[in-house]
Amino acid sequence: MGRILCVVNQKGGVGKTTTAVNLSAALALAGQRTLLVDMDPQCNATTSLGISPTDGHALVSEDDLVGHIVDSRQDNLSVVPGSRTFHDVDKLAHSDSAHTRLVRRHFDAVIEDYDFVLIDCPPSVGALTQTALTASTEVLMPIQCEYFAMEGLTQLIQTIKKVIVATDGRLTFGGILLTMYDPHLELTHEVDEEVRDFFGDIVFDNVVPRDVSLCEAPSHGKTVFQYAPRSRGAFAYTQLCMEVLQRD
Ligand code: ADP
Ligand code: MG
Repeated sequence: MGRILCVVNQKGGVGKTTTAVNLSAALALAGQRTLLVDMDPQCNATTSLGISPTDGHALVSEDDLVGHIVDSRQDNLSVVPGSRTFHDVDKLAHSDSAHTRLVRRHFDAVIEDYDFVLIDCPPSVGALTQTALTASTEVLMPIQCEYFAMEGLTQLIQTIKKVIVATDGRLTFGGILLTMYDPHLELTHEVDEEVRDFFGDIVFDNVVPRDVSLCEAPSHGKTVFQYAPRSRGAFAYTQLCMEVLQRD
């Protein structure tokens, strides 16, 4: 069965969307059938691939998910576009069991068709993120190398633990990723040490450096592999992809 990776962090701007998009692309390039699901009402993952957000989010529709899946310009990479409609966001954020079951059912119906499903979450520990976690098999948490990197994580970790218990261990802590890593900064090393001390082995060996290609690619509607295949960002996400594949 495919692995469903939920990309979460309660903070904005830590590299969730960049990771969801470029790890998906790296997996697709490695021949893995990959589905990227945009659950953030900001729809950044959708637009950064040059795809338009929808008026109705596929996950709140009773229709089969298959009919809502869009091809990207990358082989092996399909997308469930995000929706900016408040009504949909509200519905998705309704973490009552009926809605959670509907979302789970949507994923379960397509999971045989994919090796990986990646979910890009909004910056919150709210109900939308909880719905996503409940439908997932692994948590992938990007942490930005900055002051207060770990601040506020306690609440998110509590939420994740609750979902792990509620899903009977279907959800596991898949990995922590250090992003915007700058080896020239003392601060980066401090955060690196603190995060590895706290989380241990689940922190990925590979880190994602600060790289302007990763910021520029979305404005061209491209993944970093399409925009700057020889960049450090592209290399980092390829390395991360290999680590994710090895952790199976
Ligand atoms: P989030 O989804 O957590 O809000 P984003 O992935 O949208 O975060 O990243 C926030 C901003 O930082 C974006 O402008 C993005 O292009 C930029 N960014 C993300 N990762 C990197 C990186 N490794 N190097 C440089 N800029 C990055
Ligand atoms: Mg985002």
